[in-house]
Amino acid sequence: MSHATRGDEFIVGNDSHVMLWESGSIASLGSVIPRTLPTDAYGRMEIGAVEESIRSDNVHLPRSRVIHVENSYGSKNGFPIGSKYFAEIREVANRHQLFVHMDGARIFNAAAALSLDPSELTQYVDSVTFCLSKGLCAPVGSILCGSTTFIERARRVRKSLGGGMRQAGVLAAAGLISLGEMVDRLEEDHRHARVLADGLAQMPGIRVDENKVKTNLVFFDLDDEAPFSTQEIAQRMRERANVWVGTMGPRNFRAVTHYWIGQAEVKLFLDLLDDILQS
Ligand SMILES: *Cc1c(COP(=O)(O)O)cnc(C)c1O
Repeated sequence: MSHATRGDEFIVGNDSHVMLWESGSIASLGSVIPRTLPTDAYGRMEIGAVEESIRSDNVHLPRSRVIHVENSYGSKNGFPIGSKYFAEIREVANRHQLFVHMDGARIFNAAAALSLDPSELTQYVDSVTFCLSKGLCAPVGSILCGSTTFIERARRVRKSLGGGMRQAGVLAAAGLISLGEMVDRLEEDHRHARVLADGLAQMPGIRVDENKVKTNLVFFDLDDEAPFSTQEIAQRMRERANVWVGTMGPRNFRAVTHYWIGQAEVKLFLDLLDDILQS
């Protein structure tokens, strides 16, 4: 809403977070039209397809306005995308005077996984959002970054959407701890995710592609022979040990490691799951 106006078009991956997981608010609140493109195994749109999808100046067509990118890419196992892709997107955007917005909800995880400073990834975009919660552990909060004039427009949008807050300093205080103390430890979460994936790979009844575990998200599947659904297993884990795991359908799980999930919790998880699958 800060980059575009009613009827403008934005170019976006068809399985991106904003398309799938935001209640359709790009339409209901944003009044913009998405031009969706497929993404590859890592969440990248094909650069040539991005450029081809940009509209010519014609009164019958929507106006292309924004290229939307996401890093890490949630629908593709939280894959961290390197800077080359964003440099290429930037070149396309510059040729056609478009904005580039990055959904960087998990940009610090992406940067940690790539051993980069986040600014090396965000230098190519006009605006970026990131979450203080999730891996950075704050109880609540996300940040929008961009130029001064962009942020001035965004403040107005925020106010009109009911997002203005008074006495928000208590939240900002938690956010400062996120940025000061939580960024440098993300690699620990990624290491625990790899330990988890290793354990899952050795477990009968479970399938996991360890090569796809690059951050703190571990997607894994139940074998077709497993006599339970993911929901049944998740329920047993909750009942038996108050262990919670995400289910993404009858055969797919999503597990997330974070500040409160260390070696001991990973082991508990593996032992419990193994025990349930054997029973
Ligand atoms: C969590 C998440 C969001 C939502 O972020 P909020 O700031 O909490 O609205 C957006 N995009 C991705 C990729 C996410 O993982």
